[in-house]
Amino acid sequence: MASTAFTHPQAQPQGARSFFGKLNGPWHKRALQTFTIIVLAHWAEHLVLAYQVYVLKWPVHEARGVLGQAFPWLVHSEVLHYSYALIMLVGIWTLLPGFVGRSRAWWIAALVIQFWHHIEHALLQGQVIAGRTLFGSPIPTSIVQLWFPRLELHLFYNTVVFIPMMVAMYYHVFPSAPDAARMRCSCALHPHPATN
Ligand SMILES: [Zn+2]
Repeated sequence: MASTAFTHPQAQPQGARSFFGKLNGPWHKRALQTFTIIVLAHWAEHLVLAYQVYVLKWPVHEARGVLGQAFPWLVHSEVLHYSYALIMLVGIWTLLPGFVGRSRAWWIAALVIQFWHHIEHALLQGQVIAGRTLFGSPIPTSIVQLWFPRLELHLFYNTVVFIPMMVAMYYHVFPSAPDAARMRCSCALHPHPATN
C-alpha cells in the first residue's frame, strides 16, 4: 500500500516526472537529436539559397532553396519564417534545463541570439499583418536589414545560433566530471570519466 514516494525514496528531483522534466531527463538525448536534425535541415536550406545566388548566379527572387523549388510559397510566406523562428526559440528554451555547467553557458548564448533573431522575424510578420512596412521600404524590413541584405543576414543569424548550439552539445556529450555528476540525462558518452 506504500505510495511511489515511499517505494522510491530517492526518486527524481522535483518536477522530473513532468513532461518538461522528462524532456530534460530521460528524453533529452532523443529530443536533442530530433531538434538538431530540424535545425540542420533549415540551416542547409539557407546555405543552398546562398549557393544558388552566389555560385549559380540565380536572381535572388528565383533562389528558393530545396523545398522552395517545389513549394515557392514556403519561401515567400512570412508566417512560416516567423513560425520557424518561434519553434526554434521555444525548442532551445525547452531543452535548456538539461544543460549544466559549461554546456549551459553556450546553450544560453544560442538562446539569446535566437531571441533577437525571433524579434527580427516578429517585426517582419507584424508588417505583413499591419499591411504597412517600416523605414519607408517597399517590402517588410527588419532592423538589421537596414545594413545587411536579407539573404546574407538570415544565413548569418542561423549560423551564429548554430555554432554555440554545437559547442554546447560538444560539452554536453563530453562533460567534465563535475558537470557529468549533475546531469540527469543520458547524453554524455562518458558519464563517469576517470580523468578531467
Ligand atoms: Zn542531455
